[in-house]
Amino acid sequence: MVFSPHKPMALRFYNTLSQQLEDFTPSDGKTVRMYTCGPTVYNFVHIGNLRTFSFQDILRRWLRHRGFQLMHVMNITDVEDKIIRNAMQQGKTLQEYTAPYEAAFLEDTDALRLERPEKMVRATEHIQEMVEAIQGLEKRGFTYVSEGSTYYRISHFKEYGKLSHIDFSGQKSGARVDVDEYDKDDARDFVLWKARKDGEPAWETPLGAGRPGWHIECSVMAMKYLGDTLDIHTGGIDLCFPHHENEIAQSEALSGKPFARFWMHAEHLMVESQKMAKSLGNFYTLRDLLAKGFLPEAIRYLLVSVPYRKKLNFTFDGLKAAATSLERLRNYKLRLETDRFSPGLNAEIAEVTTRASAAFCEAMDDDLNTAEALGIVYEYVRETNTAMDAGQFLEGNIPGAQQLLALFDSVFDVMRPTAKGNSISDADVETLIAERTAAKKNRNFTRSDEIRDVLSERGIVLEDTKDGVRWKRK
Ligand SMILES: [Zn+2]
Repeated sequence: MVFSPHKPMALRFYNTLSQQLEDFTPSDGKTVRMYTCGPTVYNFVHIGNLRTFSFQDILRRWLRHRGFQLMHVMNITDVEDKIIRNAMQQGKTLQEYTAPYEAAFLEDTDALRLERPEKMVRATEHIQEMVEAIQGLEKRGFTYVSEGSTYYRISHFKEYGKLSHIDFSGQKSGARVDVDEYDKDDARDFVLWKARKDGEPAWETPLGAGRPGWHIECSVMAMKYLGDTLDIHTGGIDLCFPHHENEIAQSEALSGKPFARFWMHAEHLMVESQKMAKSLGNFYTLRDLLAKGFLPEAIRYLLVSVPYRKKLNFTFDGLKAAATSLERLRNYKLRLETDRFSPGLNAEIAEVTTRASAAFCEAMDDDLNTAEALGIVYEYVRETNTAMDAGQFLEGNIPGAQQLLALFDSVFDVMRPTAKGNSISDADVETLIAERTAAKKNRNFTRSDEIRDVLSERGIVLEDTKDGVRWKRK
């Protein structure tokens, strides 16, 4: 094998705004100022949302690998149409209703090993700033009031549509939309401030009693913490229109400057080749999958294994295959740690290792091509396993191989098994009970008592009956 020195290509991302791959560096050369549309905390996040958040985690990690620092802001949407509807139905305040879902979101993203953004901010804690921004838009002539609500007049923002690349020139001026989410066909002046109705939760402000529309919060919080022009704005592709288009219209009308230099959007997740929908019975949260016994790191592996701009077809076969692949990598790591290799260094393998590391970095630099990066790691594992079997892999090749795995895992973060904590699955309980029954039968009471204690520590209560052992969780 001949090692050919190559000049590494620059880090580049596909920018939805320009519809092109562009070289990326943060504008100050050091710190990436990045904004992510966070969860709407009205429910548990589903795996489609988690795909987007997992992509952002890979992005964060790779930016850091390239030597940049991060200032990443994510909003928590804790006031919008669905939240208000559900909170009112349940007779709760917005805060009472959203708090458990916000906590669950953090639990789920922790389980998937998603790094927390440097700053997470709640919409309801920025109402004052939103009111001021709307007043700023009013002063610049971008708003009008109708029936107590304030709307953004999109015909006044000449570049409306530049992100989603939709031509709105034939748009009927003055048609309005009040809901937070709507379709492309329904592009109309959107609401900035909604007048209070039917006992809805509301804030008393100079704009009248009401509450903000969904879009204004991201403009306000992004600019407050990151300045007028962000380096990167990310989100799911479903947010590109109208949400991100509206963010641009609001922010750029206020500042007169570009709102974000790069827009990066993660594609949809499909389930068994179908759109995920509650009505189709293929709607999954992370909790659903964990309850089925899948490992969080296998789920993470599957979510990040497909490059973010490709649709991801989530299947249970794929999830099982992810667990198997992970097992293979872990076995390889164990082999490096425990096999005995002859002393020396195989120069050819050392060269293969160097090339694999460089190729891995190039794949990641190429708009985070995780599929190719994974392929390079697997090819390397296959080649070196064969060399190990043939006695050609030598002791001196171990550190190089371990560094490659460490590089891989600094981004993918799947090698470490998730600690089980104190929880124990039903199947494990049954296995231990069977072992205890056998121990008792063999009059090994030390062991049977030990098992009873182990289970008790995990909150499992045993009850010996004449029909056998019954158990329950405390
Ligand atoms: Zn947003």
